[in-house]
Amino acid sequence: MRQRYKPWAKEKLQNNPYFCIQEPAKHKGAWSEVFGNDNPIHIEVGTGKGQFINGMAQQNPDINYIGIELADRVIVTALDRLLESNLPNVKLLNVNAMELPDIFAEGEVSRVYLNFSDPWPKTRHEKRRLTYKTFLDLYKGILPEHGEIHFKTDNRGLFEYSLVSFSHYGMKLNYVSLDLHNSDFEGNVMTEYEQKFSAKGNPIYRCEAAF
Ligand code: SAM
Repeated sequence: MRQRYKPWAKEKLQNNPYFCIQEPAKHKGAWSEVFGNDNPIHIEVGTGKGQFINGMAQQNPDINYIGIELADRVIVTALDRLLESNLPNVKLLNVNAMELPDIFAEGEVSRVYLNFSDPWPKTRHEKRRLTYKTFLDLYKGILPEHGEIHFKTDNRGLFEYSLVSFSHYGMKLNYVSLDLHNSDFEGNVMTEYEQKFSAKGNPIYRCEAAF
């Protein structure tokens, strides 16, 4: 996702701590207090501009969503969306997914979404893929037993790689679609990338994998 440099982004995120939680590690084990309820927490890793998380939160008011995004210049658009929708069940974290174990206690997150993750096609960059085994370790550490990852992409190579990575990890594939938009799956909320690539005619791949 190539975005213009936005030197003001960091400050804007810091100035909106209700939506963009600062020092998130301080809330480890106590995220229900941040939301003011005990509803399940679903996170999206690499949330981008937040279209998915915002749409999901509107569709499912009894679930709390947290969008995690490394790039401040990107997540600042997700913040703008939230300032407009004013949804009480979405928070944003401008952090690297590698920090997940510092931020969430074991079993504190009920589901992990990965949408259109960067494919890192070169073998020497395999460790950066968000479905590489070291990232699976991190997700496993914050999910309950049999917790699920829901993954969508238009990138066939990354999809095949991820199915193998999940299987090698001992995960169970509960759902696989090679053409989500022409499947019987209901309630799909499109991400920005999904909208862009499906408009070009690319099929969307989707799977649900359980630990
Ligand atoms: N999910 C959005 C969508 O489908 O439209 C954005 C997809 S974009 C290709 C991938 C996003 O993941 C980028 O914004 C990138 O900054 C973010 N990302 C990549 N690695 C990350 C990491 N380790 N931690 C947090 N975010 C990450």
